[in-house]
Amino acid sequence: DNTLLSIKNLSVGFYTDEGEIVAVNDVSYDIERGKTLAVVGESGCGKSVTAMTAMKLIPSPPGRILGGSIKFKGVEVTTAGEKQMRKLRGNEIAMIFQEPMTSLNPVYTIGEQIAEAIELHQNLKGDQAWTKAVEMLDKVGIAEPAKRAWDYPHQMSGGMRQRVMIAMAISCEPALLIADEPTTALDVTIQAQILELLRQLQETNNMSILLITHDLGVVAENAHDVVVMYASKIVEKADINSLFSKPMHPYTMGLLRSLPKLDEDSTRLETIAGAVPNPSNFPPGCKFHPRCPHCMDICRSEEPQLVEIEPGRHTACWLYCK
Ligand code: SF4
Ligand code: MG
Repeated sequence: DNTLLSIKNLSVGFYTDEGEIVAVNDVSYDIERGKTLAVVGESGCGKSVTAMTAMKLIPSPPGRILGGSIKFKGVEVTTAGEKQMRKLRGNEIAMIFQEPMTSLNPVYTIGEQIAEAIELHQNLKGDQAWTKAVEMLDKVGIAEPAKRAWDYPHQMSGGMRQRVMIAMAISCEPALLIADEPTTALDVTIQAQILELLRQLQETNNMSILLITHDLGVVAENAHDVVVMYASKIVEKADINSLFSKPMHPYTMGLLRSLPKLDEDSTRLETIAGAVPNPSNFPPGCKFHPRCPHCMDICRSEEPQLVEIEPGRHTACWLYCK
């Protein structure tokens, strides 16, 4: 079995002022070893909450697993203890986020911070940990790593800081890297470099990547499989080529149409009309129906289920399952 992480029928609730909302509703996906799965959707769709839940990092309360299963290397995460999870997080699963500045300590050099992570998770101390930290900086493409190790976070650019975070994340050689909007704060050129770095590291370490993004554009060259989420649910699931060549769900089509194309005038970019619905007040029927150009009567009252339309292709839309 090549599956590293397997999420099945996961639902996660959150208590808010307006009562308990369902942030993740019946979500299932698998990540294969050495592959990248991208989870795409607008902010608030549940894509980050799903990943945080997989690492058992949702604050509880207000968060709560309502049902389902999460298996990492066959171990059930939903019932695992904190001690077991801490071991898993340090050695097997690592995370990088959008804004590395918030995860770096401004008063320590980056060398110290990477060395600390190495001491914590590997059997290396002092000089050995420092040497390994410099090695990691070299691995993530930072020039003159022995010198840059003495820099403080504010002395580095945003792209450099993200490389530092990646160095820290992969220093324990995780089987799974969760990358939540890893390039959103960076300009396009740096973004491409960081994604290329992740691709290289994936190849050399046979690492799996869970790439969480609102931008379908970064997915095209950087993922093997894609899950599209909308309003707490998966609306489409496919391999990368099928999704781009023949998107099925109208929401996916909208995301694709809103991507800038190199050969076209960018003023003609389409956006998806309407707003993301509020989780405390989801519309009845298909949650996308108020924004959908293909909306039919049934869409307003009955919610379509995620079904396999073609081998390996799942979508939740009445257009395909009348
Ligand atoms: Fe649009 Fe209906 Fe499909 Fe929903 S079920 S995406 S409203 S066509
Ligand atoms: Mg998020």
